[in-house]
Amino acid sequence: MMNSDILNQRAKAFDYLFDAVVVTDLQGIIIDWNKGSEALYGYSKEEAIGQPVNILHAPEDIDHITSEVISAVEKFGKWTGEVRMLHKNGNIGWIESMCVPIYDSNNQMVGALGVNRDITDRIKETERLQHLAHYDQLTKIPNRYLLLDRVEHLIAQSERNKSTFALLYIDLDKFKSINDTKGHAFGDQVLIETALRLKQSIRNSDTVARIGGDEFVLLLENISNKDDVSTMIETLTKELNRAYTINDEKFEVSCSIGVAIYPDEGITTDTLLATADIAMYKAKHKRRDA
Ligand code: GH3
Ligand code: MG
Repeated sequence: MMNSDILNQRAKAFDYLFDAVVVTDLQGIIIDWNKGSEALYGYSKEEAIGQPVNILHAPEDIDHITSEVISAVEKFGKWTGEVRMLHKNGNIGWIESMCVPIYDSNNQMVGALGVNRDITDRIKETERLQHLAHYDQLTKIPNRYLLLDRVEHLIAQSERNKSTFALLYIDLDKFKSINDTKGHAFGDQVLIETALRLKQSIRNSDTVARIGGDEFVLLLENISNKDDVSTMIETLTKELNRAYTINDEKFEVSCSIGVAIYPDEGITTDTLLATADIAMYKAKHKRRDA
């Protein structure tokens, strides 16, 4: 038998633990609740007891999470995971959670005890770093790293489905002179507007990335024939040639576009990029010599 002083101390620890402890029965009804839970979820003990544990979960998780946790706890004696949480005020956060079974004196499982810790800040920081690593901070579109990743995926997918895709390389003409005559901040606005126009010209499933100063790459999926690509190049050229208005000043920018089609003109990321880059340079010099 455990001495009652120890039991009292443990009861106190239960209450004053920083972690949120939630005890439920087998139906997922909350039967015990500590101060840590009040702090994490915003409900007092009186409000929480008798409620279904679903009130603590994000709406998207409700139909699977409770049964998943209870069955893992029954089967393996423990469930751990990172899940979204719903605060009383409607805010969604993240918790790291560990659940174990509780038994009655006949060794029958009668519920589960979860110990939950707020990890919202860590998840947000991870998301922020992911975004920083994969998106261009000026234009907010994917950067070179995310592009390379998407090309790899697209190659694998197109190989499986025996489908084709086009990689377009776009470089603005004489962009340096815009920087030189109107200033770097003005040039930045041109790049932001260019990214926006490119994004609006493609389907949601396609990708536009900024891979260098004034260099953009587009991935067009499921291209059925080369005419599709020529039509797209015409659309993009028209869209980028449309007059820009920045700081109330109207002016024009032209661009050069090169294409590489998978698999006809390359089956690796490197060859596709190099082929489209060379085609872009040829187009640029043709324009200059014209
Ligand atoms: P070309 O017609 O041959 O393409 O020449 P260009 O003047 O467009 O120059 P190029 O494409 O070789 O180089 C792009 C220039 O873009 C170089 C650099 O000064 C400028 N640049 C690079 N990154 C940024 C940026 O983030 N903001 C601004 N404003 N300018 C940038
Ligand atoms: Mg350029």
